[in-house]
Amino acid sequence: MNFGIAVHGGAGTMPRKLITPEIETACRNALKKAMQSGFAIIRDGGSSLDAVEAAVIELENFELFNAGKGSVFTNKGKHEMDAGIMDGKTLQCGAVAGVEHIKNPVALAKKILHHSEHILLLNDGAEEFAKMHRVEFADDDYFFTQLRYDQYLKAKNKDIIVLDHVDDKKLGTVGAVALDKEGNLAAATSTGGMTNKLFGRVGDSPIIGAGTYANNRTCAVSCTGHGEYFIQHVVAYDIHCLMEYKNMTLQQATEHVINDKLKNINAEGGLIAIDTKGNICLPFNTSGMYRGWMKSENDFFTAIY
Ligand code: ASP
Repeated sequence: MNFGIAVHGGAGTMPRKLITPEIETACRNALKKAMQSGFAIIRDGGSSLDAVEAAVIELENFELFNAGKGSVFTNKGKHEMDAGIMDGKTLQCGAVAGVEHIKNPVALAKKILHHSEHILLLNDGAEEFAKMHRVEFADDDYFFTQLRYDQYLKAKNKDIIVLDHVDDKKLGTVGAVALDKEGNLAAATSTGGMTNKLFGRVGDSPIIGAGTYANNRTCAVSCTGHGEYFIQHVVAYDIHCLMEYKNMTLQQATEHVINDKLKNINAEGGLIAIDTKGNICLPFNTSGMYRGWMKSENDFFTAIY
């Protein structure tokens, strides 16, 4: 029986000399811990949906990744977080955008999936829904990290919006995809967005079909990269369509989109994807992407470059 999970902690330009061994070890450990928590759920017969949520919560709690704690700052010096989650069996999905005080935005997205007739809730409305469903809140201090704040001041001074500046040790968006023992697929993505982004800007992560998509007919996908391009090219859904309508394999579809289509227009990023047979692909067109997969306790992989 094939089942498994893959995770990412964002793609970007990652000059090797700037990632210290300590940072590399901390990131790989965070990826492994996230995979272990998701994997334990599917190993014990739980759903891929619960597994991707559990994995993304771990990654949101790890402050070096740009999601939950450690999220980047908007041009107003605040945190506005986006997250999306999708169940490949039912095609139910839930998403939040621009939330400021939700400890784990992916958990709120999952509450919306289960308990709302809507799919995407924004800032205050999302937070009101969170209160009703007893989702955990955190104050500004919880999300603050000096590292992100310094990056923000630097970007603001230069008047630029930054996708990745690993030279300043900013790491990326997080996500997970999984296949469970019942053959069900799920995907989840969570992010703080881009440093110095215009307040109110929403990226691809919570846009179903752009940054996040799962469908039991084909695959589950979680993206990272320059969100505007991922929205324009409906990247996650495009992978599904290439498989469903063009009969491409997961490998062909993901390579085509990341290393052909997006690369040709200088759209930086990558994705993680898993299909109904448990094949996993982790392509990226940047110098690195924090990524990993786990198929059993002893069969796992993590990498950055
Ligand atoms: N895709 C995210 C966004 O545009 C950023 C990232 O993946 O680093 O919001």
